[in-house]
Amino acid sequence: MGAIQALRGTKDILPEEVGYWQLIEDKAREILAKAVYQEIRTPIFEQTDLFERGIGEATDVVGKEMYTFTSRGGDKSITLRPEGTAGVVRSFIENNLYAQGGVQRLWYTGAMFRYERPQAGRQRQFHQIGLELLGSSSPRADVEVIALATDLLQSLGLKSLKLDLNSVGNGEDRQNYREALVHYLIPYKQELDQDSQDRLTRNPLRILDSKDEKTQKIAQNAPKIIEHLGDESKRHFDTVQQLLTDLGIEYQINHCLVRGLDYYTHTAFEIKSDDLGAQATVCGGGRYDGLVAELNGPDTPAVGWAIGMERLVLLLKQLQQAPVHQPDFYLISRGKQAEAQALVLSQKLRSLNFTVELDLSGSAFGKQFKRADRSGAVACLVIGDAEAVNQTVNLKWLASGEQTAVAQTQLLSSAEKLNQKIQQLRSP
Ligand code: ATP
Ligand code: MG
Repeated sequence: MGAIQALRGTKDILPEEVGYWQLIEDKAREILAKAVYQEIRTPIFEQTDLFERGIGEATDVVGKEMYTFTSRGGDKSITLRPEGTAGVVRSFIENNLYAQGGVQRLWYTGAMFRYERPQAGRQRQFHQIGLELLGSSSPRADVEVIALATDLLQSLGLKSLKLDLNSVGNGEDRQNYREALVHYLIPYKQELDQDSQDRLTRNPLRILDSKDEKTQKIAQNAPKIIEHLGDESKRHFDTVQQLLTDLGIEYQINHCLVRGLDYYTHTAFEIKSDDLGAQATVCGGGRYDGLVAELNGPDTPAVGWAIGMERLVLLLKQLQQAPVHQPDFYLISRGKQAEAQALVLSQKLRSLNFTVELDLSGSAFGKQFKRADRSGAVACLVIGDAEAVNQTVNLKWLASGEQTAVAQTQLLSSAEKLNQKIQQLRSP
């Protein structure tokens, strides 16, 4: 039997790459905390019904991409979550988060699962970071969440990103638009891709975001949904645009950007990058005023987004080297007594907030010194037989080669000075 490999469409995030992920998570935590979003962690699997109702059976995600299985008891259909919003909304309802009144600002990160053809930026297990703002119908809420997405992406140094914006109005607007759209599309029916032909009766709005080139061309000249918005929807959309302008956030209207289901309302947006090839969308989001009620919760307007972490990491890789964590000290020792002292010293240094890599090899000093150099440590600490007897340690600054012998107690009591020197050497 051959070695077992990771399943198709799944990937290990190895130590050499994990720095990017931590960077994104740290920035997200920092930026979202400033806007008082609280993290929520919901289960990775849920009842299949939740996604069928919460995402919609007419979508690709529910129609073709879900990992669904029967519970061991044989009485329940269970699905690995393909996205985060449905679970958050279920939890919001189940735990009466709405009873706290006002708005709830929540964010999450974690693995999502979709049965798709794996390619760059598209996996079967992938990761999202997302947020939901529940309880406000104000256009300021739409703009707050968009601004937080752009803040996060900008804080990571990403520049050539484009914000696409559209409005899908309310249920009534969409009903009107649907008729106009179908009327326009009927004569082209034979030229549409197969999925789009099927959608013509089930969910015609989704034809607009078909990935088929020929269908896209036809969609380009279709009537525009914003021409079918009622007064209230128009006012909401105008205000969103005005507020984005006030914040200096550039956007372009994309008439083909839609979410085709009844509980999606008003604002829809995507943030894209030209540097990603076919999988260009990094962030997708919008308003979903009907979803909480659809899942039997109290009428609650809401807006949110999700960023695809793998795509974000691909962009970061084009920009910068993986952030690595290099130790302050690399600690080497040889001989029974020296090795025991080194272990104790490593723990004491860590308790003083230094990062310390302890060499466990017991090999010749020459070999240990080579590893010290490779570790990227700022300084090397050496304990041999002589140092062990005297309870001293040899401190060698690796960049300059400068060395001093100090008592181990003195090393520990001069932690503050050492730390200053290390910081200086790290940022020349
Ligand atoms: P796409 O059109 O690329 O399939 P989507 O509309 O299905 O995207 P959403 O459900 O809006 O995507 O999810 C938000 C984000 O999550 C996407 O913009 C993308 O960055 C990321 N994403 C979605 N599906 C995958 C996947 N299979 N692998 C990696 N990232 C994904
Ligand atoms: Mg998709």
